[in-house]
Amino acid sequence: MYFIDVILPIPLKQAFTYSVNKDEAAFLKQGMRVAIPFGKSKVYTGIVYQVHDQPPVGYETKSIDHILDENPIITPLQLKHWEWLAAYYMCSLGEVIKAALPSAFLLESETIIKLSSRNFQDEESLSDDEFVLYEALQHQSSLHINDARAILDRKNIVSIIQKLLDKNIIEVEETVYEQYVPKMKRYIKLAPKYTSEEKLRELLDSLTRAHKQREVLMHFFMLNTKTKKPISSTALQKKSEASAATLKALIDKGILEEYYVQQDRVEFSDEASSEIKTLNEAQIKAYGEIKSSFETNDVVLLHGVTSSGKTEIYVRLIEEVIATGKQVLYMLPEIALTTQLITRLQKYFGERISVYHSKFSVNERVEVWKNVLSEKPKSQIIIGARSSLFLPFKNLGLIIVDEEHEPSFKQYSPAPRYNARDSAIVLANLHKAKLLMGSATPSLESYHNAKTGKFGLVTLKKRFGNVLMPDIELVDIKEKTRKKQMTGHFSDRLLEEMQEVLKNDEQVILFQNRRGFSPVVECTTCGISPQCPNCDVSLTFHQYKNQLRCHYCGYHMAMMKSCIACGSETLDTKGFGTEQIETELKTLFPNSKVARMDQDTTKGKHAYSKLIEALENEEIDILVGTQMLAKGLDFRNISLVGVMNADNLLNFPDFRAHERSFQLLQQVSGRAGRTQKRGKVLIQTYNPYHQILKQVSVNDYEAMYKEQLEERYNYKYPPFYRTIKIVFKDKNLTRVQKASVWFGQALELQFKENILGPEPPPVGRIKNKYIMNILVKIPKNQSLEKTKKYIDNVQRSFNSIKEFSSVRVNIDVDNY
Ligand code: ADP
Ligand code: ZN
Ligand code: ZN
Repeated sequence: MYFIDVILPIPLKQAFTYSVNKDEAAFLKQGMRVAIPFGKSKVYTGIVYQVHDQPPVGYETKSIDHILDENPIITPLQLKHWEWLAAYYMCSLGEVIKAALPSAFLLESETIIKLSSRNFQDEESLSDDEFVLYEALQHQSSLHINDARAILDRKNIVSIIQKLLDKNIIEVEETVYEQYVPKMKRYIKLAPKYTSEEKLRELLDSLTRAHKQREVLMHFFMLNTKTKKPISSTALQKKSEASAATLKALIDKGILEEYYVQQDRVEFSDEASSEIKTLNEAQIKAYGEIKSSFETNDVVLLHGVTSSGKTEIYVRLIEEVIATGKQVLYMLPEIALTTQLITRLQKYFGERISVYHSKFSVNERVEVWKNVLSEKPKSQIIIGARSSLFLPFKNLGLIIVDEEHEPSFKQYSPAPRYNARDSAIVLANLHKAKLLMGSATPSLESYHNAKTGKFGLVTLKKRFGNVLMPDIELVDIKEKTRKKQMTGHFSDRLLEEMQEVLKNDEQVILFQNRRGFSPVVECTTCGISPQCPNCDVSLTFHQYKNQLRCHYCGYHMAMMKSCIACGSETLDTKGFGTEQIETELKTLFPNSKVARMDQDTTKGKHAYSKLIEALENEEIDILVGTQMLAKGLDFRNISLVGVMNADNLLNFPDFRAHERSFQLLQQVSGRAGRTQKRGKVLIQTYNPYHQILKQVSVNDYEAMYKEQLEERYNYKYPPFYRTIKIVFKDKNLTRVQKASVWFGQALELQFKENILGPEPPPVGRIKNKYIMNILVKIPKNQSLEKTKKYIDNVQRSFNSIKEFSSVRVNIDVDNY
């Protein structure tokens, strides 16, 4: 008798044993996939963990349905890493597998399939069963795998679907992906018949009465002699201050001609087209220090101010590592994965780069997975968001974690609730690779690790090319309000600076950390503000759609005309978001082009790239946005950054609020003045004497670090204590309270005063579930492993209490 232990992509912690025959046992290896029956009618894809001959005690084994791979798609090293993740972040290996593998690898009864967009002709090549499914999908747009099973009336359905997938005939349905419509940029040229000087003179003479048209032409010639490059219609319109109608008149007359060039930033050219830049003195020094630090450290932190040229240093290191035949992983927070950076790297490394992140379709991700697995040159360098950590690397030489301080490296939900930066250190260790973290504003933890010798530390204090750090000015809006020097949410200082910048054809970024029009609508008669029926938060007013929306569950309703409670029509709005700023700008600067960048305007796959493209092409004068603006963008022409209100950052109820405020404000400021002209930053605040704002304004990371570290020490927070957060959720408030109190008391028996709570979070109910939190603080001298084991035991007893069976418990290790 032969058996295999299989890991299923589910939260249960045990492995499941199935029986196989002798041939199967000889063929199967760890990391291959098998389709297996589960429960009464379910099908799952499981991963073979081991092959053995020990029958399990206590149950009859079922046999497998089918083997899905000829070779393992998961390497032993990956499994080791994932086992570490499961143990460290207190979840099941199955949950890690579910997060790690593209869903097309994990077909199950619930999976939905549809025909792929690719045109398929060769029907002859299909087997009978494949053809039946293919035909079924022509009649209905999608099928559940269970339906497919009914249609074919056979068990081994998964392998047939797998074959259709491999042939690219069908796809697994996920979220709907937006089709990319390449953006066409309009250019203007002179009609060929006017290129001779004589004709030109005639032309200009003929236009003496069409004053505006003549003006446009003159500007066209000026631009033409100045740049020698194609002239975009936007540039021409802007320079000549002409209306679109004037331009159109010239085109209609056959004097000017328009033509379009595709401006496609998503399709890269395959060729490496740029030489790697020669590093300057400071970069060479930093590069040398990194190299020598790697001799004694596995992890090095590069602390370099914004625009100091960190990326170029990474490029040098990458070049060196791939020359030795090894793979490189370059990790970035999702939002910083802009085409800007990708194009830049593509220029250096050509087709040795692959990109991997969640906005890619399943098929694209499967392709990258396979390329990495077979060590194709095409995927020697992977740029990706946190999930790229899970790829089947065989031979990693270097991991770069850029913007190391970014909270989005942490996955909050669902499990595994992992921090990709920290997990990357373990991955690098398994490969005996080096890891370089980079940031202009390192997290307190990483900087502490560097200062205490756990990591190497290398610093770059100056911007590249002697560009000055921006000049940061704090504007006291309390005083400005008192002196009546505010127009809407704009101080006279901010308006002055904006006017100056716009006059010079430069660009402005305005930062407001809230989307929507205004967070709270309040009745001035009775004081009541409309609440979400499903969550304990006030609804946010979105003017554009004239709606009230919940930012936690998506609930929305039409904005009311009068108060629901007292009927009075005296509704007032409090606070303000990006949308309101955008509206105010349209009145304040009617001639400037204003755009907004926040979650509401960047939903589609390419919406974000398109905004960035427009900013790059100078089709936008003023960009208003949330913290999305802060991430690693490199623009030449932004000379002013305005922070509308710094206070709502600082007042956030979280022990990290001050550190995060510093990071965010520094990063946003870093967008200003990346060329010779010194950039300007204006931060509006009610509290200009706040320590953090002062530290931001003089760019003093060290002072911020020292002060915050002391606070962390005093209040027992990381890096001095580790934390584990336990979250309880239930529809019933009393039950969730009772459950969390029971759990908390069990923990207190062991950990005493190091248990905080249970208490409700600031938003105590989300999607109709009440929430309670317990925080476990773990001093350095207390074993993390034993602590987790104890929590595990408490949870096991908890699970056996019938009364609490509906309560969901999530455990979040290093929950910051
Ligand atoms: P950081 O990653 O630290 O923000 P970047 O690497 O983006 O900085 O560099 C800032 C700017 O300076 C970029 O436009 C980059 O092209 C330019 N730059 C950096 N190093 C060099 C170099 N050695 N030679 C030429 N240009 C450089
Ligand atoms: Zn009222
Ligand atoms: Zn809600």
